[in-house]
Amino acid sequence: MDYPHLFAPLDLGFATLPNRILMGSMHTGLEDRAKDYDRLAAYFAERARGGVGLMVTGGIAPNVEGWLKPFAGRLSMPWHVARHRRLTGAVHAEGGRICLQILHGGRYAYHPLSVAPSRLKSPITPFTPRALGARGVERTIRAFVDCARLAQDAGYDGVEVMGSEGYLINQFLAARTNRRDDAWGGSAEKRMRLAIEIVRRTRAAVGEAFIIVYRLSMLDLVDDAQSWDEIVTLARAIEAAGATLINTGIGWHEARVPTIVTSVPRAAFAALTRKLKREVALPLVATNRINMPAVAERVLADGDADMVSMARPLLADPHWAAKARSGRADRINTCIACNQACLDHVFENRTASCLVNPRACHETELVIAPAAQPRRYAVVGAGPAGLAAAATLAERGHRVTLFERAAAIGGQFNLAKRIPGKEEFHETLRYFGHRLADTGVELRLGTDATVETLCAGGYDAVVVASGIRPRRLSIPGSDDPRVLSYVDVLGGGATVGPRVAIIGAGGIGFDVAEFLVEAAPSPTLDLARWTREWGVDLDHRERGGLVRAEPEPPQREVWLLQRTPGTPGRRLNKTTGWVHRATLKAKRVTMLGGVAYERIDAHGLHLRIGERTQLLPVDHVVVCAGQEPERSLADALLAAGVTVHVIGGADVAAELDAKRAIDQGTRLAARL
Ligand code: FAD
Ligand code: NAP
Ligand code: SF4
Repeated sequence: MDYPHLFAPLDLGFATLPNRILMGSMHTGLEDRAKDYDRLAAYFAERARGGVGLMVTGGIAPNVEGWLKPFAGRLSMPWHVARHRRLTGAVHAEGGRICLQILHGGRYAYHPLSVAPSRLKSPITPFTPRALGARGVERTIRAFVDCARLAQDAGYDGVEVMGSEGYLINQFLAARTNRRDDAWGGSAEKRMRLAIEIVRRTRAAVGEAFIIVYRLSMLDLVDDAQSWDEIVTLARAIEAAGATLINTGIGWHEARVPTIVTSVPRAAFAALTRKLKREVALPLVATNRINMPAVAERVLADGDADMVSMARPLLADPHWAAKARSGRADRINTCIACNQACLDHVFENRTASCLVNPRACHETELVIAPAAQPRRYAVVGAGPAGLAAAATLAERGHRVTLFERAAAIGGQFNLAKRIPGKEEFHETLRYFGHRLADTGVELRLGTDATVETLCAGGYDAVVVASGIRPRRLSIPGSDDPRVLSYVDVLGGGATVGPRVAIIGAGGIGFDVAEFLVEAAPSPTLDLARWTREWGVDLDHRERGGLVRAEPEPPQREVWLLQRTPGTPGRRLNKTTGWVHRATLKAKRVTMLGGVAYERIDAHGLHLRIGERTQLLPVDHVVVCAGQEPERSLADALLAAGVTVHVIGGADVAAELDAKRAIDQGTRLAARL
């Protein structure tokens, strides 16, 4: 057994969990409507089959006021129970266990009925909440208790009371949002009463043999928040009130410190559960950026926690636990913490999925079934689109030959993995390498596929995943040796001078800027450096755990430019864009919009913004001006009468990302 601590059973007194893996709560967008519960049931059932010890649903409101958005999932009426029974039945049929998360949004609710301890609008929602009166507080506690009782009736193994991330209970706990002077505010002791009463009365209502997880904010990461002493006092009171497990919450949603994105070091916050373990006897669950078994095992073996919570890693690979247990950790499809298909989708009111696993939350619809008639396919290009297509085709029983011009698989992921904070992209390439071998794909590296070789191969059809060509500039001086493409910088080892202008401020422009300002090794790999850069105090000496940020000086002076008016970076992804913008600001990168490029010469880059001309005295200009499809092979094959399917960047380069490439490759292969 490679991970003895991870697979040690956990005795809860009235039940025993088979291992220390908790699938943390994650909203999928399937919680809100009864008609989606069969899909939700299939999603959880697959993860139960994959061996996870205990799962927690996405947040379900205990009443209308607690909705995160209008008509969000709610469990407050007897007729809500039936849909949940479908879910718990499916999980139990696979031998799994599941808790319902009770989440009251408080002032984070995105509707006009929101309530909070005090009438204070949050910086991330447009609605000002109504302050709960004393009767309203009592009603809210009853709503939590009723919700737990209904959850028990629906067959759940327990509930998780959401007390962190800046939601209602957390708002009561912090003076920042609780300005009351009644029995529910005014002193730390009174601010804690809501949390304690909810757990105490829930335990009284559900009896002893029912799991109550309390999600406790151990690091608020906002000003005027809880002190460490208050957190310890609360944890002890929650233990006394009858909770079974304490799960960790890190950071309010309004915090300006990243807590789960890919540039946060793995297991960055395990120090908090380690500190709390000295104070309570209850099993503690560590969370955030734990994505591989070795990391989880280390947290447990070091005694930092009793369980580990992972949400996105189990979206990425439902069989994570079974693979780790059977010595196949190298086959795990690792969550790269990109947020692109999970959290970003949820914020856009779309069903969640996963960039590296498009079947997540689409289990009933994207089915990989054996092919009715096995055929021979050639796939050209081993970037994300070609890798997904080749592996899925072979899994279905087709014979597949994958051609890649480069010496290694990965396509542009080989550039992406060099960006500081994107080290996780290595994992995706490791996973696909094994998957190709396991499914029997014939891989021809260092081989340029041509019309002749493909026609001579006698394939039934060719899948062209040949990717993109970087767009070239067409301004005077574009052919100057000082002009480099992002491929030269990230892949070609070009030497770059101390002053650099980047033309194009899309995802790649931002990544190249981070590459150029950051010193190696990346902060992602060095927790102490990361906490200094973001001003996080894991010793929690001040309220909220914040200290002054001390970013290291930039390695170069960088200008990041775009033609579109306004500050660059507005079109970056919803939940990660702000981290990239803040990182470059801390590194003093000059970001300019509304730029017209005039020429490049020995003096640098000449540009105009409105009526004003300007010379940037740079040593190099790096072009990150988007991409065009590499379709020459596809067009030639079509002309030769070959059956061709074009996917990924070769199909449409505009706004292409790996999410679309992998999804398109998988879906094509699922139906061929
Ligand atoms: P590619 O990855 O371009 O792969 C095409 C492959 O085809 C190449 O390996 C090429 O060598 C091969 N090929 C072409 N012609 C032939 C031929 N005739 N014979 C044999 N082989 C051939 N996306 C995200 O979603 N999130 C990110 O965070 C992200 N970060 C990025 C950071 C950087 C620095 C870069 C450069 C890209 C990033 N991307 C990101 C974009 C993502 O990598 C691309 O969208 C994705 O790689 C496109 O996949 P693809 O398979 O269509 O093409
Ligand atoms: P992009 O996001 O389309 O950005 C291209 C940039 O080039 C824009 O800033 C554009 O701005 C500029 N541009 C376009 N045509 C130009 C021209 N002719 N001359 C000068 N400037 C020009 O593309 P990208 O940065 O190359 O990224 C490619 C894809 O990879 C993206 O779609 C993205 O989804 C994906 N990616 C994602 C991430 C991530 O973290 N999620 C990271 C990297 C890449 P103006 O037109 O305003 O000048
Ligand atoms: Fe992880 Fe990205 Fe998948 Fe979300 S979309 S689960 S962050 S790999």
